[in-house]
Amino acid sequence: MQVFSTPDSLKAFLFEQRSQGKKIGLVPTMGALHLGHLELIRKSVRSNDITVCSIYVNPTQFNHKKDLKDYPRNLDQDLAMLKNEACQVVFCPEDQVMYPAKPGLSLDFGYLESVMEGRQRPGHFNGVALVVAKLFHMVQPDCAYFGEKDWQQLVIIKQMVNDFSFPVKVIGVAIVREKDGLAMSSRNQRLSTEHRSVASELFKALSVVRQQLQQLQQIDKAKLAGVKYLSKFPTINLQYLEIVHSTSLKPPSVPYGKEPLSICLAAFLGKVRLIDNVPLFDNLN
Ligand code: AMP
Repeated sequence: MQVFSTPDSLKAFLFEQRSQGKKIGLVPTMGALHLGHLELIRKSVRSNDITVCSIYVNPTQFNHKKDLKDYPRNLDQDLAMLKNEACQVVFCPEDQVMYPAKPGLSLDFGYLESVMEGRQRPGHFNGVALVVAKLFHMVQPDCAYFGEKDWQQLVIIKQMVNDFSFPVKVIGVAIVREKDGLAMSSRNQRLSTEHRSVASELFKALSVVRQQLQQLQQIDKAKLAGVKYLSKFPTINLQYLEIVHSTSLKPPSVPYGKEPLSICLAAFLGKVRLIDNVPLFDNLN
């Protein structure tokens, strides 16, 4: 496994690989790796000759300095985990390399970023898109892998790839969960024992909404059932629970027209903010 910290050294290595006709897969991460990340790596390894995992805690996508500072970092452990996978390349750049100057460009995804994460975290997706665009230019991957855990992010990256005609195939990977249903996340390690013990209720609430939708097909009632379920847990501070069209992120049609839906939420457990979602595709029959 080769570890690079500068784009020039990375590019030189990948140029050589590409000229031998090798297919390159990119898995962008912010490190503190877990099995969810490894699932993306494994998917890439299976379909590409070279897998590049980037590890970079991207400052432009954080809304609060404290959140950026508290974000878990454990490069040694990450590298050890990646060595056990057949990941050939790790790219871990410094801020100076990724942002030699303050970016002047600002990307606006319109409606897609006016709801849910974009609404709660203004500028977040601008930061995500900037860093992903930089990584696409540096790595020039054939395929790039993103988790469905960040559903809105996946939709926005696909939009960016289309709008900029990036020659990259974006592949979404299903959410990897703990045994009790909690979506794996680097932020989970910051949960107190008390908060960890209720964290799986987020997934259970999503499952309640999904079940209600399947039975009643009434959007508002289903949403209310999820909110009510979570209100039983005083240590969970729900920020939003939304049912949206899976790709447009628009509200579902009324009456419900069986279009693909995603049920998404964000909640604070103490100071830790977690997000999760489940799909409800055309499975209401
Ligand atoms: P992060 O390091 O949190 O920025 O995540 C890097 C990538 O891993 C993103 O595309 C995430 O959506 C994805 N990811 C994070 N957690 C999971 C999970 N539990 N299951 C699947 N993908 C995940």
